[in-house]
Parts: sequence; structure tokens; C-alpha cells
Amino acid sequence: MLKSDASVTGGELVTYLIDLDNEKHAAALMRVTEVMRGCRELGLAQFTIRAGGHVHIDLHGLTAKDLWAQYTVYKYLELVIYHLAGAGAAYGHRALEGSTYCNPGPDGPFGTVGKFATKMLRNHGHDYRYALHFNNFASAKERCKCGAYMTGEWAECECNLGKATAEWRVFNAEINPRILHGWLAFVQALTAYTTDMENFNEPDFPALPWDGKKLTAVGSGKKNQIKERLEFIFRELPLTVHERDSLIYALKRSALVVLGEDYLNDLINVEQVGGFGAKKAAPNPGSRKEVVFAIDGGTGPVEVTEYDGDEDPEWDEVDLEPDDEF
Ligand SMILES: [Zn+2]
Repeated sequence: MLKSDASVTGGELVTYLIDLDNEKHAAALMRVTEVMRGCRELGLAQFTIRAGGHVHIDLHGLTAKDLWAQYTVYKYLELVIYHLAGAGAAYGHRALEGSTYCNPGPDGPFGTVGKFATKMLRNHGHDYRYALHFNNFASAKERCKCGAYMTGEWAECECNLGKATAEWRVFNAEINPRILHGWLAFVQALTAYTTDMENFNEPDFPALPWDGKKLTAVGSGKKNQIKERLEFIFRELPLTVHERDSLIYALKRSALVVLGEDYLNDLINVEQVGGFGAKKAAPNPGSRKEVVFAIDGGTGPVEVTEYDGDEDPEWDEVDLEPDDEF
């Protein structure tokens, strides 16, 4: 749906909760990217530095310690994430062009989960513009009726807390579906990796903070730090081979291409040590409004294009006919 937003002209395009394991949901997202690409080609929509791509991840059932780990690993990767989040734009991340709608949050190390919570989990206690923030989650726990939050046993809560999300504001506004696939897979894999993390040890993840600088040439010290982070992503995070491929596609269209296409292509060969845990059932299935993705009527199911090699998608196939089901 398109909703009004004071910070951008036109509006903000918003989806309900989507589950990209569900073919219909994935196809609906593809369909939206087709339509938006068509709007841009016709001059009906622009993606300027004023617009960002915001990814919300449902945090029902997660604990403060999970979020401490999540934020710490985010900070460990922050410089890489900002450049990755500028993929597809010639100027790179929109912050480099003066956008102030996505700022790095507080730096760690925090030392204890309590000190982390003081900085990042107070209700309305911090800036909603942080590149990754948990404001919605911090507010949503007030809707717990079972008492689990009162006693600190957050993982035990089975209440529907509504929009209890982590918001990743770091991404540019982008509609290339392969870049979006890489971004979404990365955010989900980082969340999965840091949830119920065994032996989380904050000093293992020293921050590599966003420096607000263009990455035109990289000195060897910084280059090694960036490579260490990239290899961590491909070694540790639970990404499928297709997700790894889309992530490399996005990296090659970001400022990180200064590392060389050969280096980035070779990341596909980094041996993965992390396994795939079983996917947990959603604790609040009733709030997932699947009906909005019922797209089988109208013009029929969306055809999902297969991409091979490094060629850009065939955009001239975009169907601009409005679909009644949307
Ligand atoms: Zn509860």
C-alpha cells in the first residue's frame, strides 16, 4: 500500500509482514518491483536520496540478549553494511549525498545486557533515525498481558505485541529485485545468527564503524578489515547459495567493488561453517494478513524471471497494466 509520509513527496510504499519462503509472497514482492520500475521509466516515480528502504524484522520471542548480540554484530559489520546498502546507486549510500535520515546508533562495547538495554531498549529513549533500531519492539512490550515481560522472561511471552520489530533503515530506496533479495537475505541471516547465539562474547566483534566517507581507494589496513568482515558474512551467516549469489551481485554494484570483482566473485567459495536451524513457527500467525497477497485472480500468477550470469534483469518485459488484485 502507498501511505503518506511527511519526509517524502508522493508517499511511502509499505507491505504487510511477508514471508519470503512463501512463493506467493515472493512473487508479490517481485510484482511490486516490476510496477515501480515501470513507474520510474515513465517518470511517474523517483528514487532520490530523500527516500530510504526500511526493512522491519519481527522480533516476537526474542530477548534483550538476542538484540545485544544482533546490534553488536551489526556494529562489527557497520562500514560494510552502509556500502552494501548503497548498492545500485552511482553515488553509493545516500548519507554520502547529505541524507540525515539514517545515522549510526551508539557505539559499544556495552559490557552487559543491562547497559546495552539502557542505550537501545528504552521506550522512545533514542533516535528513531538510527540505521538499526528497536524502538517499535521497546514500545510493543507494553502490550504484553501475560506477565512475561514483567518478570524478564521475554522469550516466554505468547501475546501478540503488534509491530514488535527491528527496523533496518540503512538501505537506499531500490527496486532491483536481485539487490533487494541480497539485502533481505542478509538481514534475515544476521537476525538468525544472533538469535539464541551460543557463547556470545562481545569482544569477539570489534566495531568497524561507518565513517561517512566515500570508498574510492582503500588503504591496506582498512581493506583487510573490510575483507575480514565480508569473509565472516559468507563463512558464518546461514545464507543459501542463491542468497549468497544475490549478495555478491549487490556487492559488485556497491562502492565495495574497489576490492575487485574477482575477489567478490570468489566469496561464493568461502566455506560455510554455520548450519541452518529449523525455522521457528510465527508466534502471531493471526496478524499476518496473507489475504493481501492473493494474486491468482486478475492477470494470473506473477511470472518470476530467472536470472543467470551477471546480466541485469530484462526490464522491458515490465507489464504496466494495473492489476485489480493490487
Ligand atoms: Zn505476554
